[in-house]
Amino acid sequence: MPETRLFRPAVIPILLALSAVPAVAGNPLYVNQNGVPYRWADSTVSYYTDLGGLGNQTNAQADVLVASAFQVWADIDTADITFERLGDLDEDINADNILDFFDTVSNCQNLDNSIIYDQDGSAVEALGFDSNSVLGFALASCVNAATGHYTNGMALLNGRFIDGEPNSPYHQSLTVEEFRSAFVHEFGHLIGLGHSQINVNCLTDISCPSEDLDGVPVMFPYLLGSSLEAGLTLDDRSAISMLYPSPDMSASTGRIRGKVLFADGQTPAQGYNVVVRSVLSPRSAAVSSVSGHLFTADAGNPLVPIYGLPFGSRDPSLIGYYDIAGLPPGEYTVEVEPIHGSGLYPFLYDSGVGPIGEYLGFQYKMPGKCSLQLLNFPSSPDDGCSDHTILNVAAGQDLNLDTDIILLGTPPRYDAWENGD
Ligand SMILES: [Zn+2]
Repeated sequence: MPETRLFRPAVIPILLALSAVPAVAGNPLYVNQNGVPYRWADSTVSYYTDLGGLGNQTNAQADVLVASAFQVWADIDTADITFERLGDLDEDINADNILDFFDTVSNCQNLDNSIIYDQDGSAVEALGFDSNSVLGFALASCVNAATGHYTNGMALLNGRFIDGEPNSPYHQSLTVEEFRSAFVHEFGHLIGLGHSQINVNCLTDISCPSEDLDGVPVMFPYLLGSSLEAGLTLDDRSAISMLYPSPDMSASTGRIRGKVLFADGQTPAQGYNVVVRSVLSPRSAAVSSVSGHLFTADAGNPLVPIYGLPFGSRDPSLIGYYDIAGLPPGEYTVEVEPIHGSGLYPFLYDSGVGPIGEYLGFQYKMPGKCSLQLLNFPSSPDDGCSDHTILNVAAGQDLNLDTDIILLGTPPRYDAWENGD
């Protein structure tokens, strides 16, 4: 079967200034040209682990750490995914052989997934990264584009962060629990999840109320320091459940989907963050989907210099489309916001949210008159920015009528590819 190499070395730098641990939902990481998000074919994802230790952890302790980080995803009852360690790798991967091993992985010749324990950061250095700022990485390294399935993957854990040395600028250290949490995020990538933006004020504002922090997903582009111990949020659970739905997921939860449209009510708008919030707990129970996330980032825009991206559908009906499933029954609002694209920590490239930021390296600004656009049906040009509809979502319900969000106050027809300047 034809296999395609992926090219995303999603590295995890550390942000001391924010006391955040960035890594390397509701969004898929890769989408094939039929508009189908990539996932592992089987609901049991298997992996092999390295020989040797990890920082001050023995090999057996490292295996437990990895298994427990995978288990966080396996524990979601609306998702059908489990993990199985098949055994040890044939050799201990270290600074001496990591480059050869990386070639093997890049050429899709490794089995399933390989989890590498870099005892002291020397393998990270051998790969050309700074061992004091790169926690490790995880990537699905090869796909079968026709079937939309991952075929090979790997993760590397940098044991220097948990070698027992005191934390200092020259030797960054984490607790084992913090380290494990960072790899819950990384393993999210390994099984097909992209980044999600919920409550971005927790990154950009000085203050972040605790209920806001509770809503920041594990798949946020930067793992905020105080959320390191937090578990998966509704956004994370929705994202993994959409990729690996349990048999009763669609019957036990609800779904909201539609399009983001410019003010003419017809032209679809790519690359905006759609957030569904629970009326009961709007800050902590929220799920996102990037408009047009299934569509390719580089088709149709003559201003974009990249052509031939192997990812994303070419079906124009998917431009501006959002899709949020796995919602517990209840009342919800729907809102549209820009994706954070500037400042110190923009959601671009490896830290990207949605295909525009990831592949094109910018994010669209919010056009129109509302900095946050709420779904209000029927929409009228005279609506206020706080006017909104409350959607009642029942178990098994798929709300896809009257769910388009019209961005008020943009030009009557708007070039869907302009950036709002
Ligand atoms: Zn990430």
